[in-house]
Amino acid sequence: MVLETLIRRSEIGDIYDEVLAGHRVSDADCLRLYHSRDINVIGAIANVVRERKNGNYASYILNRYINYSNICILDCQFCEFGGKRRDAGAFELTIEQMVERVRQGLALGITEVHIVGGLHPSLPFSFYADMIKALKALDATLHVKAFTAVEIYHLAWLAKTTMPEALATLRDAGLDSITGGGAEIFSRRVRDLICKGKETAEQWLDCHRAWHKMGRRSTCTMLYGHVETLDERVDHLRRLRDLQDETRGFTAFIPLHFVPDKTPLAHITAASGFDDLRNLAIGRIYLDNFDHITGYWIALGLKLAQVALSFGVDDLHGTIMEEKIFEMAGGSSGQLQTREQLERVIREAGRIPAQRDSLYQPIKVDRTITS
Ligand code: SF4
Repeated sequence: MVLETLIRRSEIGDIYDEVLAGHRVSDADCLRLYHSRDINVIGAIANVVRERKNGNYASYILNRYINYSNICILDCQFCEFGGKRRDAGAFELTIEQMVERVRQGLALGITEVHIVGGLHPSLPFSFYADMIKALKALDATLHVKAFTAVEIYHLAWLAKTTMPEALATLRDAGLDSITGGGAEIFSRRVRDLICKGKETAEQWLDCHRAWHKMGRRSTCTMLYGHVETLDERVDHLRRLRDLQDETRGFTAFIPLHFVPDKTPLAHITAASGFDDLRNLAIGRIYLDNFDHITGYWIALGLKLAQVALSFGVDDLHGTIMEEKIFEMAGGSSGQLQTREQLERVIREAGRIPAQRDSLYQPIKVDRTITS
């Protein structure tokens, strides 16, 4: 009761009442949340939505990441992962190498493989379809989640076909989900500054729309903490919420902070813990048509991801096993979490751990209470 009084007396107390009443938060109020310094109240409002949607459960998935190649025709300013064939760190996996990595993951119980790479200049379209078929041949129940919308356009270009046709061919090869990457910040101004030449916001949204209309699901992201304004973050969230109203195809929102250390934008100060928690919590409050908000521990670090469970987050992503994109940009969160580590941090935060599948459905719920 005391807490409720304090929340209502804050400058954003009226938004708390709106959310309690089940009303949708306006763009103007979303911007007010971004301008507020009252992180505890923002977290408390996000908690209302989190509990309403997910009760006391917090999920994770047993998955493995694979990057098939970092060779890329683009040169995004925020990216240290993508490079040219001549670069010392350039790599390209064969399908056999990917099969072996997934075989190892399956032995450890993974239910999903998550695959992304650069926009490779010369690998043929057949490589990607054959890759998916080879992985599905290992285990037909393995969920193959692969390619950003940006990669899908690139693959369509390689195949001299349209984006929807490329999606349909990959789906028929066994692709289960597409990933949420490549969204960055939707604003044209920002895209021109940090990833000139990349697909537009409209193209990114069209790709996810087309995938959803095939009855499939995807996640979505926001890369924040570089040159974007707070208005541009609100605009990004609004476009995601609008598409979700239309298709209901997004499973989760996964905000990612920019890691400047080794990139051409190294002069930018990295997003703070305050900004990370604020962005997750505001995502939870504003995206009222999303079931899940994922705290990506690779970006946040497991400690802050654990705290984020009290700021709107209900999912900690997965075991990952091997991650290159954040690591090559200077991230230091490591490569692997075990099921035990993820369940421990979830329990410590007062939540019930639930192993989930790629569509965020529970596979195994552990109600064991430990002190
Ligand atoms: S973000 Fe993606 S498209 Fe851009 S340079 Fe990196 S790998 Fe290439």
